[in-house]
Amino acid sequence: MFDPTLSELFSRQETPFYYYDMDLLNRTLAAAKTAAAARGFHIHYALKANFNQRVLAAIHGAGFGADCVSGNEVKKAIEIGFDPAKVVFAGVGKSDKEISYALDRDIFAFNVESVQELSVIDGLAAAAGKTARVALRINPNVDAHTHQYITTGLDENKFGIPQWELGDAIETLRQCSHVELIGIHFHIGSQITDLNVFKSLCVKVNELNGWFDERGYRLQVLNVGGGLGVDYHHPDTNNIPDFDAYFGIFADFLERRAGQEVHFELGRALVSQCSSLISRVLYVKNGIKKNFLILDAGMTELMRPALYQAYHQIERADAGFAGTDVSELHYDVVGPICESTDCFGKEVLLPVSKRGDLIAIRTVGAYGEVMASRYNLRDEVRYVYSDALA
Ligand SMILES: *Cc1c(COP(=O)(O)O)cnc(C)c1O
Repeated sequence: MFDPTLSELFSRQETPFYYYDMDLLNRTLAAAKTAAAARGFHIHYALKANFNQRVLAAIHGAGFGADCVSGNEVKKAIEIGFDPAKVVFAGVGKSDKEISYALDRDIFAFNVESVQELSVIDGLAAAAGKTARVALRINPNVDAHTHQYITTGLDENKFGIPQWELGDAIETLRQCSHVELIGIHFHIGSQITDLNVFKSLCVKVNELNGWFDERGYRLQVLNVGGGLGVDYHHPDTNNIPDFDAYFGIFADFLERRAGQEVHFELGRALVSQCSSLISRVLYVKNGIKKNFLILDAGMTELMRPALYQAYHQIERADAGFAGTDVSELHYDVVGPICESTDCFGKEVLLPVSKRGDLIAIRTVGAYGEVMASRYNLRDEVRYVYSDALA
């Protein structure tokens, strides 16, 4: 629940808008940084989770590197000020234009997702007179125990090089004169809350690290990706992920060779909790089977529920509710978009609500604002920072 002074400030804003709690963002970044630094780990922030200007500036300010999945993300990261020597570039479908651009900017490494991509990068690097540093993204077939739509490290997923093709990859690497292998990369999924999954990942990474060792490759980097989950059910009491427990697993279970660096690519865990989508009730429909709250925000502002059946806590954001005795009703909380999947939550218990009341949809900092669309020719998505709210 928001502090009542905030509700007062929200009430003067045009809705809907993303509210960014910059203080919570900075505290989250500091917690991650401290926990990683204690173990000598490096964090690259996954830009795709949120590329809002001030969010990126805060993350750059905290000293993290950048993990990009498109040429435009590489460009954005460099514009914000990220050092190209701390930029990595993943993605199953990098275009020639994107690869050439990243080569030109001398990024730290390409996370290569197929044997064919190795040859393409080699050709483009040769033409540009450069040597591309690459890490092989390996699909380890580790089950992330997360929603099927956001799992990426199983044999049936399109990401990475399957283990049975690693022999081919090595053969191809031997023929590539403009590619240098610096490491191996993994990213098995998102919103992973069962930390045992990361232990299984460590076991796989150790095995593959050894495999490369045996073939004479001394890898500089073990990049274990991101995926650490957040608590969508307790956005107030559990608002900073347990980075110590997370990094601790890798410190305990990863067998690093002397001098080997461990890299992480966190997205969701760093930015989810710092934002809420603030909206107003436009209409209330009380029916026989259902009560509907129709909001002025829809799937055009927040697509996660429609796209991945994602859960978000929904609450009233007006002043005066904490601790008071109010009558409540179950509502289906929906948006105004002409799609039946435009629904934020079903049977949500809320204080009896009316037109004009403020609603907060919590934990939307990751994969929220960045997925907004203009479908139905909706207005451009709006955002407000906590330190600019007046
Ligand atoms: C999306 C992505 C990440 C970040 O995932 P989170 O679950 O948000 O931490 C990291 N690495 C790669 C390659 C990605 O595609």
